[in-house]
Amino acid sequence: MNKELLRRLPKMDELLDMDSVKKYLKDSPRKMVLESLRETLDYFRKSILEGAIEDFNNEDIANKFENIIELHNKSKLNRVINAAGIVIHTNLGRSILSEKAMKNVIEVAANYNNLEYDLEKGQRGSRYSHIEELIKEITGAEAALVVNNNAAAVMLVLNTLCENKEAIVSRGQLVEIGGSFRVPEVMKFSRATLVEVGTTNRTHVYDYENNIKENTGVLLKVHTSNFKIMGFTEEVSLEELAVLGKKYSIPVVEDIGSGVLIDLSKYGFIYEPTVQESLRKGADVVTFSGDKMLGGPQAGIIVGKKEYIDKIKKNQLTRALRIDKMTLAALEGTLKYYVDEEYAIKNIPTLNMMLMSKEDLKKKAFKLRKKLRSATENLLFNMAEDYSMVGGGSMPTEKMPTYVIKVKSDKLSEKQIEEMLRKNNVPIVARVYNGEVILDVRTILEEDMDIIAEAFKVIGENVI
Ligand SMILES: *Cc1c(COP(=O)(O)O)cnc(C)c1O
Repeated sequence: MNKELLRRLPKMDELLDMDSVKKYLKDSPRKMVLESLRETLDYFRKSILEGAIEDFNNEDIANKFENIIELHNKSKLNRVINAAGIVIHTNLGRSILSEKAMKNVIEVAANYNNLEYDLEKGQRGSRYSHIEELIKEITGAEAALVVNNNAAAVMLVLNTLCENKEAIVSRGQLVEIGGSFRVPEVMKFSRATLVEVGTTNRTHVYDYENNIKENTGVLLKVHTSNFKIMGFTEEVSLEELAVLGKKYSIPVVEDIGSGVLIDLSKYGFIYEPTVQESLRKGADVVTFSGDKMLGGPQAGIIVGKKEYIDKIKKNQLTRALRIDKMTLAALEGTLKYYVDEEYAIKNIPTLNMMLMSKEDLKKKAFKLRKKLRSATENLLFNMAEDYSMVGGGSMPTEKMPTYVIKVKSDKLSEKQIEEMLRKNNVPIVARVYNGEVILDVRTILEEDMDIIAEAFKVIGENVI
């Protein structure tokens, strides 16, 4: 029986003559088609020998071949649906780009552009000039520079202003962010010497002042964006540091991490220092991320006094950390919205998701529940109130009230449901909590609801 089935397996040239294979030969590499056919044959041979297949026809072979070649064709980096309710999810690519940002990227990437060409003068220009004015206008800074990410920004600033010199930092701010950004490590690479002052929970102005020497290069303040020390604590304010910096002519550098440009406390959020405010309070140089609460692409933005930014621009390291044209295009598109606060909140997905009203979230949840209930009757979908998180190491204590859909089945465990969602053609990342699969509507895009419903339809069919 097995031998008979094995003998019936088509030869390679027969396979190459099949319509479904010919279709792929037109626009896929021939090598990939051949490899996929070999894998298809291997699959059938193995299944026959194991007794897993008792019969097959050409259509079975064509289907298997299509599955295999589609897998080969598929990118490894793919879109996913964020149903976890963490707005700035670092594992899921942080911020979603806004419309203007997307439009700019496509236009600039698909065409030649004036990246380093001054169209006014008809000569070589600077890639940094395009958005410097915009950043200055929004933040009130004297000058600005953009690099690869905030880690690069911090390293570049320290290397420029503090190489072979000492940077004074409070012990309470020697943070690690996302397991990859550690202030002491970044310092080492920048060749600045770290001078830790104060204790984990309390640092006073005199701790800084007592450690100022001939060789002090920078007074550094790091925003402890991803944790909060509660209780008996004291931090030296930026104003106090600025006074000290002036007194001894030492630049004050602040890494504020997330980089909010809008004061979100008026929308009910805990207070988070804005870039504008840090500059107003006297920081000489401020660095922040482009893809956290700013809602743009991965980037590190450096703003501050012109004398320091000019030095940083001249550092050879800037060349190695430089930002590419697609990122610049996305950043400019994002920043354009910030000229007007309402406009930014309405159009930048990260801000929009963070500030979505409870009524809107409720409406969204009703809509999703309805779609899910009509997709399958084999799972239970219930609406509930819950909390979403900002994520990206931003506002760690902030819990945003939201609505979620809780999914239950008496046949499938929450782990099985979570896995099936995760392995969906468009992967859906959900939260599992207390034995339930939870879909937070805050981070789910309206246009993705049908994909989620379709995924549950398939899961529902598997229940019985
Ligand atoms: C997130 C963060 C960083 C790292 O920023 P990237 O843009 O991810 O490189 C550095 N410092 C602080 C305080 C942060 O919050």
